[in-house]
Amino acid sequence: MTRLLAPPRSDRELVGSLIDSSTALLAAQTHDVVRFAMGAPSEDLMPIAELDEAFATARRGRYDYGDSAGEPRLREQILRLAAEAGAPTRDERVLVTTGGMQGLDLAFKLCLDPGDLVIVEAPTYTNGHATALSYGAEVLGAPTDADGLVVDALPGLVERAGRLPRAIYTIPTFQNPTGVTMSRERRVRLLELAERWGALVIEDDPYGMLRFDGDPAPSLAQIAPDHPLVFQVRTFSKTIAPGLRVGWIDVDPELRERAVAAKQAMDTCTGVPVQHGVAAFLEAGRLRPHVDRLLPLYRERKDAMRRELDRVFGDRVVATDPEGGFFLWLTFTGELGGLDTEALFPDALAEGVAYIPGPAFTVDGSMRDALRLCFATSSPERIAEGVERLARAAERTAGG
Ligand code: PMP
Repeated sequence: MTRLLAPPRSDRELVGSLIDSSTALLAAQTHDVVRFAMGAPSEDLMPIAELDEAFATARRGRYDYGDSAGEPRLREQILRLAAEAGAPTRDERVLVTTGGMQGLDLAFKLCLDPGDLVIVEAPTYTNGHATALSYGAEVLGAPTDADGLVVDALPGLVERAGRLPRAIYTIPTFQNPTGVTMSRERRVRLLELAERWGALVIEDDPYGMLRFDGDPAPSLAQIAPDHPLVFQVRTFSKTIAPGLRVGWIDVDPELRERAVAAKQAMDTCTGVPVQHGVAAFLEAGRLRPHVDRLLPLYRERKDAMRRELDRVFGDRVVATDPEGGFFLWLTFTGELGGLDTEALFPDALAEGVAYIPGPAFTVDGSMRDALRLCFATSSPERIAEGVERLARAAERTAGG
């Protein structure tokens, strides 16, 4: 059987397996585990009753193939959402996708030839760089700090690479895994560089709507409306529910035509009943009140996590302080400096807490002393318990 498969294009193509094996290990646990690992809204915070109500009426009789670009009724709601967010777009730019992942897949599929250079943030979303690798890209990680991607580091990186990037993949707002947001100045500069290099900027924005602090940051698409090189990828996975598998892309109309053709060859269209369900949910005006209910809870959870990390670890960790989204990024320092978070993982799990180790988010397996924590899934009490468990495991692993 394995003889039938093309070899992986890179040993890091299988990087997703690090998350899968952590998840499988997690699923096999029968004891109580505080779950800081997965990036999904907790089930108690999903709008289940509202979705059930929307789906009960909307799905009826909707079992045929649909429009590959997405059901017009849903596209209309997506246009309304974009206008409400101050980033109006047009129907010929929008294609409904099967989750944000399909948007990323389309972006890399349409722009890459094997061997092309792609720049990503280091660290970045595992499945983002795994998708680039699956199309044969050579992926280079660029540094990030509290203001997101260090855009001024890109020219040096490109010079050392000796060639121009075909694409730059970024999660500018509430980044996965760090939670940081790119400053406006850097966004503008990034667009300038991309234009100079003729590189596609893949703007992955699943979390932008989930801002609980600070002033809104304009999306790249908003700074440069109609820019032919900005490929925006969105999803309802984090604002409504990930099992829906509904997202969209907002791209140049010519690119969108290519994407529609590519999507036809992938899955013909996103599930029709589910698109009607989501459209009905949006038509009933359910999204904004739902997100407004979530935001204070997420802020409370993020604050609880920062407070507990500070109380329990003190100067033995540094952590980011996100203004939205799901994650913060922790690096061990001082007494715990250099602690290997992959080695720590089984100990942490035995102690009853799960996270994702740093190397899952890098192309070269670096950032071994860092890890990603999802604060969105657990109550403040559970967060306090989880952080204490993490400290016990870290002290034991470091001591042993
Ligand atoms: N991009 C980022 C940055 C994500 O965090 C996620 C979900 N973890 C996705 C894309 C994929 O979204 P979806 O579940 O809608 O495919």
